[in-house]
Amino acid sequence: MMPACLSPLTRAAALALTLSILELGAQEPSGQWFKGNTHTHSLWSDGNDFPEMICSWYRDQGYHFLVLSDHNTLQRGEKWMSEAAIEKRRGALGPRVADKCRARFGEDWLQTRPGADGKGIEIRLRQLDEYRPQLEKPGRFLLVQGEEVSAQFGKAPIHINAVNTKEVIAPLKDLGDVRETLRANLKAIAAHAKAIGKPVLAHLNHPNYRWALTADDLAHVVEDQFFEIYNGHPGIYYEGDPKRVDSAHERIWDIANTIRIAQLKAAPLYGVATDDSHQYHGGSNTPGRGWVMVRARDLSADALVQSMQRGDFYASTGVSLKAVDFDTTARRLSLRINAQPGVRYKTEFRGTRRGYDSGTKVVDAPEADPQPRRLEHSAQIGELLASVEGETPAYTFTGDELYVRAIVIADKPMANPPAPGHLQKAWTQPVGW
Ligand SMILES: [Zn+2]
Ligand SMILES: [Zn+2]
Repeated sequence: MMPACLSPLTRAAALALTLSILELGAQEPSGQWFKGNTHTHSLWSDGNDFPEMICSWYRDQGYHFLVLSDHNTLQRGEKWMSEAAIEKRRGALGPRVADKCRARFGEDWLQTRPGADGKGIEIRLRQLDEYRPQLEKPGRFLLVQGEEVSAQFGKAPIHINAVNTKEVIAPLKDLGDVRETLRANLKAIAAHAKAIGKPVLAHLNHPNYRWALTADDLAHVVEDQFFEIYNGHPGIYYEGDPKRVDSAHERIWDIANTIRIAQLKAAPLYGVATDDSHQYHGGSNTPGRGWVMVRARDLSADALVQSMQRGDFYASTGVSLKAVDFDTTARRLSLRINAQPGVRYKTEFRGTRRGYDSGTKVVDAPEADPQPRRLEHSAQIGELLASVEGETPAYTFTGDELYVRAIVIADKPMANPPAPGHLQKAWTQPVGW
């Protein structure tokens, strides 16, 4: 995603939020909770700050891990940028980018040379392996290598984050149709994981960016295991659009889960929340909006990815949980919310029952869309099974649910929302399938 307009982060609110997350440091039986963001851009692609400055911000905010996922590149090799181009990306916001970096890392940190055209200077971007030792601390903060594999089919962007990679994975474009292109890129990431013998996470990003992908696409490309239930960029339309049926992220997730489990005998999708931040000096696309909390045995890239692939994590825009448990014998999903003083919580348990109405209707979408026709699905998909107030919500299966997932909604807005009215939430993964 590319950046857009304005809304400053309230420092006190962000700090309060971070503190509530840090209280989760206690050991759970199967590991510890770690907070991370897997989708971030820097000057290495279309972000507007040095990577080491972005990493410093996340570390200072109490995150445990971060993936700098620039478009189709890793942060290695020699890359120079003109200082003028760097400052242009900042716009009129705040002090000069290079000055802020020198203030943080020292006067000699940035390597410069005269500009190629004889005017101005160029600055060399530091590589991940160069700044990693300045920022990482065992058990406290980890940088995980990754990339946003940025492909497309025609006008439809198909972006997938590959996390814990070793080499650049080149995007594969315009293959057959949207689904075939998505599938081919997921297979390329899986092949990379196999080649390096490590777990690699692949999450499909922002399905509604330029209205590229539908719920049915996400259902049928069963090679995909993750998608962004929430992305902090202001142009991704988490809530969908009335002109495009079944386009809200919540609907996409339930439709895909239901078709996969009931019709394709495939695993449902897991949902991540991310920042997809590009702007670090103010603006509308700033960091700190969406993250994952991963329960892992230790703070290592392999352990984090393996936990996520098991579904042992939740997505958040502000709500933190002490525990998420699914008792497979009692068929009971229970949560313990790490409540903030004065905040009320409502938990929606959503799912689809066996025997749901699987009929669909073809509905026109705007002609200019990559997909000018969409399928409308029954309201029995992703039905609200129960709505529970309080700090220890639970749901016991009645027997005919294909799956159940929980959305915890606080009566408090996000500290720095990409659009007005977004409340703090947490999303747990589908269980019981
Ligand atoms: Zn992105
Ligand atoms: Zn993207």
